[in-house]
Amino acid sequence: MTTLLDRLLKIDWLVLDVDGVLTEGHIGYDDHGLEQKSFHVRDGSGMKIWRFAGKQAALLTGRSSRIVEVRARELEVTRVMQGAVDKWESLQSLLKEIGAKPEQICAMGDDVVDLGVMSRCGLAVAVADACPEARSAAQYVTRARGGRGAVREVIELILRAQGHWHGVVEHYMHRTPTGSIES
Ligand SMILES: [Mg+2]
Repeated sequence: MTTLLDRLLKIDWLVLDVDGVLTEGHIGYDDHGLEQKSFHVRDGSGMKIWRFAGKQAALLTGRSSRIVEVRARELEVTRVMQGAVDKWESLQSLLKEIGAKPEQICAMGDDVVDLGVMSRCGLAVAVADACPEARSAAQYVTRARGGRGAVREVIELILRAQGHWHGVVEHYMHRTPTGSIES
């Protein structure tokens, strides 16, 4: 039987749903009808740490908005897939392009539209306040709610399992210009 640790050890990519995972799921509109979302700062620093560890990330969402492009640039996300009608189909083309296997992917979701991706990736993660179906499909359910540090929690979980977390903390403590945290 595949344990959670077996799964964690293989992960190189984070594939994140946006609404309800990187955000609390609220979608606001300004007077001009433009969407507004808010993000958690520690998910942001977690993503920097993830990239620092040599890992990749993609955003995969059924909706489309400019805010997501802006946030993706800030987070140095490798790939942004918006307006994905069939999320698994979109992810399959990414996998083909980068030559990665589903076992290397950790998929995070909060709703039934994420199930197709979650059920086919190496590690399925649901946020604490995900719908019951997503929580059942997940091998790991975060303690944090969506938009409240759930992504940071998963990054730390994976990097700890892979033995990289200590190196990251050391880097931030001493700011040594090592450029790598491989141990
Ligand atoms: Mg969602």
